[in-house]
Amino acid sequence: MADKLYMIVPCFNEEEVLPETAKRLKEKYKTLMDAGLISDDSRVVFVNDGSRDNTWRIIQELHNTDPVFSGIDLAHNSGHQNAILAGLISVKDICDVSITMDADLQDDINTIDEMLIKYYEGNQIVYGVRSTRKTDTFFKRFTAEGFYKFMKIMGADVIYNHADFRLISSRVLKELAEYKEVNLFLRGIVPLIGFKSCSVYYERHERFAGKSKYPLGKMLSFAINGITSFSTKPLKLITAIGFIMSAISIGAIIWAFIVKILGHSEYGWSSTMCSIWLIGGIQILALGIIGEYIGKIYAEVKQRPRFIVAEFINDTGGKDIAEKNTEK
Ligand code: UDP
Ligand code: MG
Repeated sequence: MADKLYMIVPCFNEEEVLPETAKRLKEKYKTLMDAGLISDDSRVVFVNDGSRDNTWRIIQELHNTDPVFSGIDLAHNSGHQNAILAGLISVKDICDVSITMDADLQDDINTIDEMLIKYYEGNQIVYGVRSTRKTDTFFKRFTAEGFYKFMKIMGADVIYNHADFRLISSRVLKELAEYKEVNLFLRGIVPLIGFKSCSVYYERHERFAGKSKYPLGKMLSFAINGITSFSTKPLKLITAIGFIMSAISIGAIIWAFIVKILGHSEYGWSSTMCSIWLIGGIQILALGIIGEYIGKIYAEVKQRPRFIVAEFINDTGGKDIAEKNTEK
């Protein structure tokens, strides 16, 4: 008997792409079922992340017309990562295997077959990795590739060019549910869990319709969040800079002293001004980085729920699951 697949698709204002995404996923599910790769009671779960358009209404209609579609309605916009997490945690006890995929059809649906084959070969996690970024704009490619490289330097072990298109078995989902941190960065946490894993490669398409929900500001905060959630390297860097600056200043003091003795002490106003600005800047930056971590600690200490499931529509007993899963 084939395993039960639950796909998690986060949706934030995706009314333009949802009908097409649903159509293509339905076709895919049909071929997967016919090929005996997934069971007949497999589902596609659209997670409505507090959309302001008709997204939730479309999900409800899809569910009413075809039981293969399920939906989770979050009480408010919780962000891409938390929307995925809400879906994964909600289905961890009812599926055998999950796949997360964006709603905009940028990830190649045809990679799902290969992911499932790798799963049946014994892999608990299968990462979807982009082979090229031809369809991205130069700016997106530059910032995104810079992001992965910078993350590595900063000590967060992420898989290069892998976003959130991945297969996770229910075994691993149960472990993932134990990671209670509020500042969740899935791309960093999933590799940390371990288990046998592998990657499959696919070409990323252009967004089918609608606009990116990740403008530059959101992308930057995502990167900062990723780094500060995973690594204390920036703090160590500050310490190192502190040491270097102290060493330089000892040299500067000696130099100033010599200049004084030689009687040329008038000049040097500009170098003083420069160093004041430089050191001031470094201090503020250092404080900012430390503040960033303190902010993280603050959020963790409060232990607020990461998402709230308002409703889970699924024809196999979703209601009680929704109650159980109004999770932290
Ligand atoms: N998304 C979400 N909540 C948000 C922002 C985005 O659930 O607050 C979803 C969005 O609907 C999409 C996925 O996350 O399915 C990725 O967003 P998008 O395609 O806009 O990002 P990009 O591919 O441009 O990085
Ligand atoms: Mg996208």
